[in-house]
Amino acid sequence: MADSHQTLRCPACGEEMQKVFVPSQGVNIDICTKGCGGIFFDNREFRMFDEQDENIDDIIQAVENNDFKEVDESLPRYCPACGAKMAKNFSSIKKKIQVDECYACGGKFLDHGELTAIRNEYENDLERTNDVMKFVYNEMGVDFIHQDATKSDRRRSPLQKLFNKMIGL
Ligand SMILES: [Zn+2]
Ligand SMILES: [Zn+2]
Repeated sequence: MADSHQTLRCPACGEEMQKVFVPSQGVNIDICTKGCGGIFFDNREFRMFDEQDENIDDIIQAVENNDFKEVDESLPRYCPACGAKMAKNFSSIKKKIQVDECYACGGKFLDHGELTAIRNEYENDLERTNDVMKFVYNEMGVDFIHQDATKSDRRRSPLQKLFNKMIGL
């Protein structure tokens, strides 16, 4: 991909997406904070990024209201990074989450609703958070370290906090 710093347009609703660099994982994600709440995962060439100090608190706040646009998931979607048509794939977590995938550049898009849809499937918050994070980390190609209940609060990463907000915890 030529320029990972460019602002992307959400493939689901067309709004500008907001970039979030997550230093602990060395990855960059784009979130549709102004539109539908969807998330785009870049391909894995993130490590060129040097915006180590970027603070994602604003974005965490932005997804807190959960007041996102409805989108028509049956419409074709085009990769915001390279323009290729994206293909729908069922991913893990009980096959509940459908991911739009770009076979040309490796980008992936997740609807906000796809994360919220799994809310009621779990007995407790920690189990749910762990599963969502495992899925998300897997999509990003990084290892997920399972958290135990006693340490979860202190060790929660910014990305994890963000996804907690996105699934309404
Ligand atoms: Zn959107
Ligand atoms: Zn692409």
